[in-house]
Amino acid sequence: MERLVVDPGPGVVVRVAVDAPQHSGLTGPLDYASEQVLAPGSLVRAPLGKRELLGIVWPGESAPPEVELRAVAAVFDALPPLGAAWCRMLDFAAGYYQRSVGELASAVLPPQLRELSPEQLAARLRKLERKVAKGPAAAEPVRPELAPEQAGAVARITAQLEAGAAKPLLLFGVTGSGKTEVYLRAAEAALAAGRQVLVLVPEINLTPQLEARFTERFAALLPEPLAIVSLHSALTPAQRLQNWLAAHLGRARLVLGTRLAVFASLPDLGLIVVDEEHDPSYKQQDGARYSARDLAVWRAHDLKVPVVLGSATPSLESWQHAESGRYERLTLATRIGGGALPRVRLFDMKSLPPSPGVTTALTAPLLAALKERLDRGEQSLVFLNRRGYAPVLHCGECQWKSDCPHCSAWRVFHKRDRTLRCHHCGFTERVPRACPNCGNHDIAPIGRGTERLEEQLAEALPGARVLRIDADSTRRKGELEAQLQAVHDGEVDILVGTQMVTKGHDFRRIRFVAAVNPDGALFSSDFRAPERLFALLMQAAGRAGRDASGDGVSEMWVQTWHRDHALYQALARHDYERFARDQLAERRSASLPPFSHLALLRAEARTAEAAKAFLDEAAGLLQDEQVFVYPPVPHAVARVADVERMQMLVEAGQRSRLQAFLREWVPALLALKRQHKAVLRWAVDVDPLAI
Ligand code: ADP
Ligand code: ZN
Ligand code: ZN
Repeated sequence: MERLVVDPGPGVVVRVAVDAPQHSGLTGPLDYASEQVLAPGSLVRAPLGKRELLGIVWPGESAPPEVELRAVAAVFDALPPLGAAWCRMLDFAAGYYQRSVGELASAVLPPQLRELSPEQLAARLRKLERKVAKGPAAAEPVRPELAPEQAGAVARITAQLEAGAAKPLLLFGVTGSGKTEVYLRAAEAALAAGRQVLVLVPEINLTPQLEARFTERFAALLPEPLAIVSLHSALTPAQRLQNWLAAHLGRARLVLGTRLAVFASLPDLGLIVVDEEHDPSYKQQDGARYSARDLAVWRAHDLKVPVVLGSATPSLESWQHAESGRYERLTLATRIGGGALPRVRLFDMKSLPPSPGVTTALTAPLLAALKERLDRGEQSLVFLNRRGYAPVLHCGECQWKSDCPHCSAWRVFHKRDRTLRCHHCGFTERVPRACPNCGNHDIAPIGRGTERLEEQLAEALPGARVLRIDADSTRRKGELEAQLQAVHDGEVDILVGTQMVTKGHDFRRIRFVAAVNPDGALFSSDFRAPERLFALLMQAAGRAGRDASGDGVSEMWVQTWHRDHALYQALARHDYERFARDQLAERRSASLPPFSHLALLRAEARTAEAAKAFLDEAAGLLQDEQVFVYPPVPHAVARVADVERMQMLVEAGQRSRLQAFLREWVPALLALKRQHKAVLRWAVDVDPLAI
């Protein structure tokens, strides 16, 4: 690749993608003067207004200048330019998600690049070069013999590696069926062919575990430092830059990361794996709201390399693609080692004798079941997707509730540090001793979160070692690892947690999993809520009985008031396919995704009226018979930090139709916004996940 062509001529015009503020209306790359010809993909610093920004020389022709152009301020010439394929991906993603290329590039490049001078970056690159292997070579790894279904899946992936990819591969495998082993073998084949491999996981928490597994397998094959790197937002800025550079230079052969890693510069990319492809965390929720899963599919298609989307509960979008033949489905139907999936027991809350305590999460039969496991020395997991002690404090005298003064939400009672905390805006106060409204001393928590569940379990089962894992218990660095280790080491009898513990972890000792209060999502206004609940419960169930040794069956206990609900009936049979069939039929008749395509226009203002006025006018800007714009509605949590949030849904039968509409609409919205000064923020979310 030619890096830098030095031109002795009088100077040239270069197009540079910079992160111009949205209100400036400068959406495409801007023209600058340069003393020398710069290869597309070169990183530069370029002046904009009074600032100097990181920019990328963008491929394409620029028109002859009509005004005098400002000059590029500096060139990062020690760094090889970003490749044409990388720039293509950015162009596509920026266009598809309705952002400027400069903004997107600035959001996805390592933040430190913005701060370093070309000299400082050159120093970093030299430092990288000095990292060479020392110490003895690692031992050859032990690779298990593949089960027949695994071998079949690996064969399909390697066939694509050799022939140039045809279709995205949906690896549909029940929990514990050995999907990771398939990724490892596929990666091995790609690495052996001299290609780079990108593996995406949904949660930062899962990266250390996965990194350990990949490092163990590939330490002998890839002995050089930085041959295996991770990319996620929990790295220090210096680490993130280092790992990004290693990938960009082709030194890193295997990159593991969260959604932002889909944008890594990988000149030899030969295989992409998206683990737990259904997971909502692949969708970025602010700025450029991209889906890393969808971009992975695009990128693989663009490069003609295989992409493997793995899940026990695929997204209905991916499932529908497999049904229609656009994706190729690879199925792993059996658990490795013959471990049975846990028996699912739908515990009917209506069967309990009516009493004031009947809504309690810890029903007597559940406690008895936990006790039995405890007596047998087995581990259990109790799952509740709500952290804190109780979602609200309540005064029985005057009906005061602990609402947040800044949000349309309650503040959650956290008992350990005696605070009332808003999970939306972060507003925190000490718990009042008495009702702030009437002075009554008898204010009580209503409902329960994991903190209270932990306390009640410890009370009800004296002697049991109860551990809670959620976002609160794992705030400090290293805490999560230590807590997970305690579970693996058998120092815990009952693990209480949010969805943080249901994802991915290979717990070997857990034989009983209980979901104590999952019904809420059945009646949500979000049409994707059942899909998420089903995936969550299947995944939670997947934590039990991963080790086939030991006697007795493992069990998943689901407490519900709606045991006949189709979702639970499918769950009880571990029947994802039936669930998907039912849901897709509903989606089809309601013409919801994947049978239609959506975008959401969000607006935020100090008053709901101001936000609505903007949306109402936006709806009238453009008419298209095949695009339907719904009336504006408040966000599910309408007010956060004293800002009112409204949104408006745009729907089209064809993706291309929606895209064409947005291409015209968004520039018009930019202009419209200038007349709506009261609107603080607005954004278009293409393929929104939460509605
Ligand atoms: P999944 O990702 O589908 O939930 P994993 O890849 O974590 O499943 O596999 C479950 C367990 O089975 C892991 O402990 C893994 O090491 C083991 N395993 C996977 N494939 C094989 C195999 N072919 N032979 C023996 N053990 C295997
Ligand atoms: Zn009161
Ligand atoms: Zn708040």
